[in-house]
Amino acid sequence: MNPLYRQTAFLTSAAKLSQTPPDTGFEVAFAGRSNAGKSSAINALCDQKTLARTSKTPGRTQLLNFFAVDEQRRIVDLPGYGYAKVAEDIKREWQGSLAAYLEGRDCLRGLMLVMDIRHPLKDYDLQMLHWANTISLPVHGLLTKADKLKKGPAGSTLLKVRAAMQKISPTFSAQTFSSLKRTGIDDAHAKLDEWLAFDDTAQAL
Ligand code: GDP
Repeated sequence: MNPLYRQTAFLTSAAKLSQTPPDTGFEVAFAGRSNAGKSSAINALCDQKTLARTSKTPGRTQLLNFFAVDEQRRIVDLPGYGYAKVAEDIKREWQGSLAAYLEGRDCLRGLMLVMDIRHPLKDYDLQMLHWANTISLPVHGLLTKADKLKKGPAGSTLLKVRAAMQKISPTFSAQTFSSLKRTGIDDAHAKLDEWLAFDDTAQAL
């Protein structure tokens, strides 16, 4: 594992696009329905217990939460669909801002779409996938809570989800993941490394 993930730290929250950090370097965004396991996945990938707690930390219930891996690389936590305690008009405003962020952010290299392996490809997920395809944004599906299924069903779900995703775009990929059992971490890191443009030199730091 690239040691920089362990040093990843909360950078800033943005309630609107004007509050986002400068559009330089590399970003990978994490999206998912509420409760899919997005915060746990970010924490597991950064080997930290409390880095991402967006929905639970007062003041972080914002449009976008930025975490700095280093000065040039960021992980971005997008609001989960079904987020609690946010008024309808704010949700609508967010949707517009979210679309604008995804479309307009030059440094955005890919989208990690976090889905509970027992409930994949719901409306929100499909919307994100079609949206990403429209703007040629690569997507990697993280099928979380894989520990909740036996190996056979988990494997067949992965094949089905991957096929459905690749029907939308042949560039999309997917894997199984468990924050609890820490499985799939290496594969997810490989994708993050690719998108964040880490090479062997950086790994050696
Ligand atoms: P978020 O709303 O998408 O950020 O979801 P959280 O990361 O807060 O997780 C939602 C719930 O699912 C919590 O109760 C977690 O403990 C649980 N959870 C998250 N990841 C896993 C996992 O890999 N395996 C299992 N069994 N539970 C998980």
